[in-house]
Amino acid sequence: MLDKIVIANRGEIALRVLRACRELGIKTVAVHSTADRDLKPVRLADESVCIGPAPSAESYLNGPALISAAEVTDAVAIHPGYGFLAENADFAERVEQSGFIFIGPRPETIRLMGDKVSAIRTMKQAGVSCVPGSDGPLGADVDENLRIARAIGYPIMIKATGGGGGRGMRVVHSEAALPNAIALTRGEAHAAFGNGSVYLEKYLETPRHIEIQVLADTHGNVIHLGERDCSTQRRHQKIIEEAPAPGLGPEIRDAIGMRCVQACQEIGYRGAGTFEFLYQDAQFYFIEMNARIQVEHPVTEMVTGVDLVKEQILIASGEPLSYRQDQIILRGHAIECRINAEDHETFMPSPGTITLFHPPGGPGIRLDTHIYQGYAVPPYYDSLIGKLIAHGESRTIALARMINALTEIVIDGIKTNLPLHRNMMNDEGFRAGAMDIHYLEKKLGLT
Ligand code: ADP
Repeated sequence: MLDKIVIANRGEIALRVLRACRELGIKTVAVHSTADRDLKPVRLADESVCIGPAPSAESYLNGPALISAAEVTDAVAIHPGYGFLAENADFAERVEQSGFIFIGPRPETIRLMGDKVSAIRTMKQAGVSCVPGSDGPLGADVDENLRIARAIGYPIMIKATGGGGGRGMRVVHSEAALPNAIALTRGEAHAAFGNGSVYLEKYLETPRHIEIQVLADTHGNVIHLGERDCSTQRRHQKIIEEAPAPGLGPEIRDAIGMRCVQACQEIGYRGAGTFEFLYQDAQFYFIEMNARIQVEHPVTEMVTGVDLVKEQILIASGEPLSYRQDQIILRGHAIECRINAEDHETFMPSPGTITLFHPPGGPGIRLDTHIYQGYAVPPYYDSLIGKLIAHGESRTIALARMINALTEIVIDGIKTNLPLHRNMMNDEGFRAGAMDIHYLEKKLGLT
């Protein structure tokens, strides 16, 4: 077993990893920027190291500082969480070259999956169906690009090869708009991801976002843990997730799940991962793979009873998976609401001090958060301050428990999107289930 782990992240995921380490008897090192001295995981960890000033580029994205934190504390491994350097292949490589264990996939795999075009190519080869689109990145020839788009058919989505976080995507409805839109997306992609490469995909008009969770150890064992439905999105970013996906059923689940397992075997995948699909007219279309733990992992944990973060750590210590496929049994239904420090109408971030905090409780309620009364949410980072998860024997019970929890929870001093969640849990369409990815934006009058 690993003796000591550096948690190279902040916020709720740092706390989540810390809890898993504690359960496994592993010592923890929290890293933090100068703005995060009062962070809960920093207070709870066995040791902590300040890695730089507030801006992420100088702290949580500072690979050498994170590796020296492992060096000075005699840690043996680094857990990257999600976001920041979690999918940075160069960082993973440097961690391993420095003699530490990177808790995640092999750097080559991260590199392959980090580039959406190479990920799609790999999945096609492994027999996973993808969205119809250009065969690779677009070149500079405008006529050739128009021809490719015509063959796919409008509407078309232009996507950045190195995109992420719902950015670097643009929908085009007509041929006349395509050349300019490609140029714009290239420019944005270059500015945001340092890589102006873009490709084309058929724009699916009414898909759901359904993803499959997998775990793979270093002994050749791979399992899937069913799916999550993450269709409740705004600007291509998830707001509410649930497991299982309403109406999907065991046969479809097993078929797509086993396809992902096979793909993992073919590419020699290691660790936790997620295959993201769009699901429309009973067809799955692969869009990307996330080679890390995801924000929404708790809904899978609630319905399977598997601690995904502990499994990640066990895999990294060379242990075989704790479960066989036939031991993964889904029980009931779980829903997660992402709690953001933002105005629920304008979505403007709302940093500041939490003056009053009452966490909810009761059967089936889980709150993953690093906040506490008196904690000041800094303005420098992502606005996610917690995740409220409700589990029940059925979706109806999970919904009822979520409504109870949303009624009980109090976070004062800053604005949050809790009113949006209360509204959604009582929304007829959401309650009926199986809405598409545009449902929330339509409801909010954004499209
Ligand atoms: P990111 O890496 O930025 O999260 P993804 O490729 O995972 O980007 O896509 C995020 C979301 O964007 C999807 O869940 C979906 O809502 C939308 N999207 C992506 N590709 C398409 C497509 N071809 N057609 C329609 N919507 C899409």
